Amino acid sequence: MGIYDSAGRLRFPDPPLSRSPDGPCADSELLVAQAYCPAGHPLIRPEHPRFRGHPAIGLLCRDDRTEGRVFLSPFGGDKRKIVEAPFRSGAVLGICCPHCKADLPVLAPHDCRPGASYVALFLTPSPRWGDILALCNVWGCPAAFLRRGEQVVAEFQNQILPEPGSA
Ligand SMILES: [Zn+2]
Ligand SMILES: [Zn+2]
Repeated sequence: MGIYDSAGRLRFPDPPLSRSPDGPCADSELLVAQAYCPAGHPLIRPEHPRFRGHPAIGLLCRDDRTEGRVFLSPFGGDKRKIVEAPFRSGAVLGICCPHCKADLPVLAPHDCRPGASYVALFLTPSPRWGDILALCNVWGCPAAFLRRGEQVVAEFQNQILPEPGSA
């Protein structure tokens, strides 16, 4: 057995988080139930669209000509998202908190194209670099990873659905 499954996710030999009482879902360890901007504003709110019953991660994204809200599935490895405005594939986006408009902090460069970076969503209201969901800021780049307690628990190469309006 390899360390990655067919979806490119790290395998877990014995994932303790999958035994949560409110759902025997095998993906529960990949569910991001809470995410915050650097100022502690929740990015996951009950009124957001839901994926598998769980509210989406809401972000404000912009490039040099478009700005719009993007709702991501809160499950790592789930490619689905809902967009207000389509972006050009390959556009390097500013990704910010819909509430305070603060840019999410850059974590590290990503090598998919020049200018690309991983940005961090914090999993706790007080930002800690050890507990983050990291996303590439290039529209259409599937790279992401989830780090809990200083360990990378999952890396994703999600397939992204083509957004409406893209050529
Ligand atoms: Zn904020
Ligand atoms: Zn990338």
